[in-house]
Amino acid sequence: GGIGGLGTEICRHLAQAGCRVIATDLAARDERVVTFQNEVADFDGAITFEPVDVSDFDSCRQLIERIQQQLGSVDVLVNAAGITRDTSLRKMSPQQWHDLMHVNLDGVFNMCRNVIEGMSTRGFGRIVNISSVNGQTGQFGQTNYSAAKAGVHGFSMALARESARKGITVNTVSPGYCDTPMVAAVSAEIREQIVAGIPVG
Ligand code: NAD
Repeated sequence: GGIGGLGTEICRHLAQAGCRVIATDLAARDERVVTFQNEVADFDGAITFEPVDVSDFDSCRQLIERIQQQLGSVDVLVNAAGITRDTSLRKMSPQQWHDLMHVNLDGVFNMCRNVIEGMSTRGFGRIVNISSVNGQTGQFGQTNYSAAKAGVHGFSMALARESARKGITVNTVSPGYCDTPMVAAVSAEIREQIVAGIPVG
C-alpha cells in the first residue's frame, strides 16, 4: 500500500527519518506509480517503487528476495495495503468477503511470513500493521473489513509475543477516518453520516 494515501505519507516520513524506503504496491496502478515517483522526487532516490500483490504469497516472497539481493535486509515492514468491499451482510457475496480477506488479512500474513526469518536471524525488526478503528467498533456495511482489521490486531499481538525476544516489535496502528482515495470512494451521503458520528466533526 506504499503509493496509497496513507502509504505515501508513511514513505515520506520514514525517508525523512533517514530510512531507505521501498514503496510496494500493485504494478497495475502504473499511472499512480508515475505520479508517486514525482511526488517523492525530492527524496533523491531514497524512496523507490517495487511491484507486489500482497494477496499472493509468491509475489511477496519474490519481492523480499529481490530487495535482499539488491539492497540488503528489510528492517522495517509497514503493511498498509487495504481495500473495501462495503455492503450489508445480507447483500455480501462470497467474492466480496474473500477478495477483502485475501488483501487485508492474508496480505499481512504473506508479507510478515517472508520477513520474519531474516529479522529473527539478525535480532532486529519493526513491523507496523495498519488496522482500523472499525476493527474495534464495527461499521455498518463492513462486516468483512471490520473482521479483517480485528484479525490484523489479533495476528499482531500473537506475533509480538513470538518475536519480542528476538528484538522484533509488532504493533498495529488503528486510524480513524483520514481523507484518502479509500474514503473519497465512499458516497457523500454515507461520508456525512460518518463525520456526524465523530465528536470533533
Ligand atoms: P488507499 O486506497 O489510498 O491505499 C491503499 C493502497 O493499497 C493502494 O495504493 C492500493 O493500490 C494498495 N493495494 C490494494 N490491494 C493491494 C494488493 N493486493 N497488493 C498491494 N497493494 C495493494 O487507502 P488508505 O486510506 O491510504 O489506506 C491505507 C491503509 O489504512 C488500509 O489498510 C486501510 O484499510 C487503512 N485505514 C484507512 C483509513 C482511512 O480513513 N483512510 C482509516 C483506517 C484504516
